[in-house]
Amino acid sequence: MNWFRFLLVAGLWLAGHCLAAPTLDASQLPPEGLSLTRHFEVVDDASAQLTLADVRSPAGAARFQASSASGEALGFSYTRSAVWLRLRLANPGDAPLVRLLEISYPLLAKLDAHVPDEAGQYRTMETGFARPFAARLHPSRFYVIPLTLPPRSEQTIYLRAETPNSLNVPARLWTPEAHANHERAGYVAQGLYFGLVLAITLYNLMLFLALRDWSYLLYVVFATSVAAALAAFTGIGVEYLWGDLPAWTARGVNIPSSLAGVALLLFTRRVLDTRQLLPRLDKALLVGVAVNLACIPLLLFFFQRFVPLFVVLNALTALLLLLVGVMGALQRHRSAYYFVAAFAVILLAVVLTHLRNLGLLPTNVLTSEGTQFGSAIEMLLLSFALADRYNAMRRDKARAQSALVESLRASEQMLESRVAARTAELEDLNRRLEAMSTTDGLTGIANRRQFDARLASEWTRALRLHQPLALALIDVDFFKKFNDRYGHQAGDDCLRRVARALAATLHREGDLVARYGGEEFVFIAPASDAAAALQMASRVSAAVRELAIPHADSPSGLLTLSIGVAACVPQAESLAATLLAAADQALYQAKAQGRDLVLLGTLPHSSP
Ligand code: GH3
Ligand code: MG
Ligand code: MG
Repeated sequence: MNWFRFLLVAGLWLAGHCLAAPTLDASQLPPEGLSLTRHFEVVDDASAQLTLADVRSPAGAARFQASSASGEALGFSYTRSAVWLRLRLANPGDAPLVRLLEISYPLLAKLDAHVPDEAGQYRTMETGFARPFAARLHPSRFYVIPLTLPPRSEQTIYLRAETPNSLNVPARLWTPEAHANHERAGYVAQGLYFGLVLAITLYNLMLFLALRDWSYLLYVVFATSVAAALAAFTGIGVEYLWGDLPAWTARGVNIPSSLAGVALLLFTRRVLDTRQLLPRLDKALLVGVAVNLACIPLLLFFFQRFVPLFVVLNALTALLLLLVGVMGALQRHRSAYYFVAAFAVILLAVVLTHLRNLGLLPTNVLTSEGTQFGSAIEMLLLSFALADRYNAMRRDKARAQSALVESLRASEQMLESRVAARTAELEDLNRRLEAMSTTDGLTGIANRRQFDARLASEWTRALRLHQPLALALIDVDFFKKFNDRYGHQAGDDCLRRVARALAATLHREGDLVARYGGEEFVFIAPASDAAAALQMASRVSAAVRELAIPHADSPSGLLTLSIGVAACVPQAESLAATLLAAADQALYQAKAQGRDLVLLGTLPHSSP
């Protein structure tokens, strides 16, 4: 900061306190106009009843005191008094001077300017938002009072202001040309701001309609309310939007502010997801919403009494939002960065405006329309926060989708591998069942079933190929006695050993050994004639004898077999059963002839 300048301002403030304001030379004005704050003398009329005659009377005139303020505006805060201001202007030159006295604070309900004419008679201009806009001599959003100072003259001008709002009088004296430039720049800035708000509001309204995300509607309510408040504050509202509506203009800053507060608090809750992120501050935000909502009827019906308290609540709301933004940013919530940036910009704008109001910054478009610039940047930043949130939601959705696809794929794979395992189990079971259905449980060789099927198929094959087919029925001799003497267990063992011996002896491709039932076995020998079959049977018999299974009740003392063999070349009219019957016949004969024998059976009409 420029300390010299600060000391100068402080010095002038002190001087203002002690001395009556000297007459102001209106002929020399800087291009940015001249702030009149230090040149006013003030009477606080608590009765609000004093007339021009009263303040011009000697008693009244003695009450005027030099203003203690030094910045851009005389501030009286919220007061029920009427404020009288006296300004002495001089024109030391030879030509008449035309000057404009501008009061750039539209929230004055009644502003009366008492200006002497050439004859020294006072004329009163009545303006302020409680008076019709059409009555303004210089049609403008601010109050502009045209003055004409005759050559080598002095004029005393009286202003009287009264308002339910905070009573501020930021007054400047301008040359008409400088004022025109300043005014044009101000309107351009306002046009830019409201154009931006309109675009961004419509855009977010479209987004709300398209996406049905309430954040966008809250944003629209917030932006519209802020714009409405600023329209009232800058006078644009009266000039272009709602015209002469004094009851609304008086409340036009505060009611939209509380609505903006409600919308912004709810918006913050949604966008920063404070319920999850900052549960304690979330409750405070809800309280803030309730308080701001309650302000609306109070401002409507008890405006003048309630508005000073409202200003404090408004500041608390702003602090709460800033706190939530900072806490969110500390928790690394991306959208919170935009919030903090947005509030920082608003804060900067407020600081700039105050510095200008204190006279520490020059008056130019940037400082006098600073609130507008700050608000515009805030809106843009909050809109970025929304866009960022949308992006984050899209990323989350994509992540969730790919996780879902991944888990679906995994469960599909698991299902597939389970099905494969089950199928393999079933196939194995089927194989085992099939094997069980075709093998003999006790001996593990083929069973009667398999024998029957094989006999049928070998029979048709031999028939087709005109090949011989042989089979033999094998019966263990005196097996009942074996069982009786050695027990059933030993009998079973014996049957297993005989079966193994049979299988080991008859291992030619296509041969089949099966258990026919009880202690009887059978074998099929395809493409074998009677001689070959007899030979096979003899080998079988020998193999069992070689086992040398003791059998005390057999004449030989060992376990022996009786075998009936049969062979033929199948004919179309003959049946497999005849071959089996022939073998059975031979076996019967072998038994009859004393057992331990291999005999060949004969078929009715065949010649093997
Ligand atoms: P033969 O010399 O005339 O053939 O007399 P055998 O005693 O062998 O004939 P029989 O038909 O009179 O008796 C067969 C016996 O075989 C009767 C039964 O106890 C026995 N047997 C049949 N199946 C089994 C089996 O699975 N296990 C055992 N241990 N014995 C069986
Ligand atoms: Mg038998
Ligand atoms: Mg027997």
